[in-house]
Amino acid sequence: MQLQDMLYSQGFGIRRVCSGLVQQGWVELWNTETESWDVVLDSTLDIDPEGMSFKVQGVEWAYHALGYVLLHKPAGTECSQKPSAHPSIYSLLPPPLRLRPNKGAVQGVQAVGRLDQDTTGLLLLSDDGQFIHRMSSPKKHVSKVYRVTCKHPVDAKQVQNLLDGVVLDDDSKPVKAAACELIDTHVLDLTLTEGKYHQVKRMLAAVANRVEGLHRWRIGGLVLPADLAPGQWRWLTADELELLK
Ligand code: URA
Repeated sequence: MQLQDMLYSQGFGIRRVCSGLVQQGWVELWNTETESWDVVLDSTLDIDPEGMSFKVQGVEWAYHALGYVLLHKPAGTECSQKPSAHPSIYSLLPPPLRLRPNKGAVQGVQAVGRLDQDTTGLLLLSDDGQFIHRMSSPKKHVSKVYRVTCKHPVDAKQVQNLLDGVVLDDDSKPVKAAACELIDTHVLDLTLTEGKYHQVKRMLAAVANRVEGLHRWRIGGLVLPADLAPGQWRWLTADELELLK
């Protein structure tokens, strides 16, 4: 693959911009023999991108054929490219992640499902359409665990109702929690395997309670890393991707 094509694939702009970055000396490649960074000026240089590290304007990147990202979503952000009232979660990502081309169109990584603006926690983003489908399809039963802080104390009857299934306002079929664990008088961990609109809030409303705080801390086998502060993102590791299979 030519260096300019690799940069294009990683979201550094159209090929003319990428070749310009190289020719102006903004791109460095890791030289495994000398163990140092080399400025490369030939944008048509043939490279093997797999596992390679490179720098653009001093910032280090690793090549990812497909992007899998986890973000600690902070409160007060919208999971939309065109937010209506709060900053978009996409503004928390660096431009190359938002510009990664997808089948010729500039698309960038996309959120896997949505969290409400006031919900915090684990959000996955990717430009792998199959992955997005697998993670968000209700038929695949990928579990999502929410730490729910309620306005009123949660009693055993409410927990049982959530497990047995509750009817949501505009839906005739009851929805059930896959698991529901009382953590404290007002706090529970609710596990869902589907993702209906405002599902947690509507389920708690259906048992005469009210959500005051909502935090998603697990998807499948993947737990939100404790060292990832609200607003921070990072690439998923190969091991973390395995946990989602
Ligand atoms: N359920 C909700 O009500 N809100 C979310 O953000 C996620 C699940």
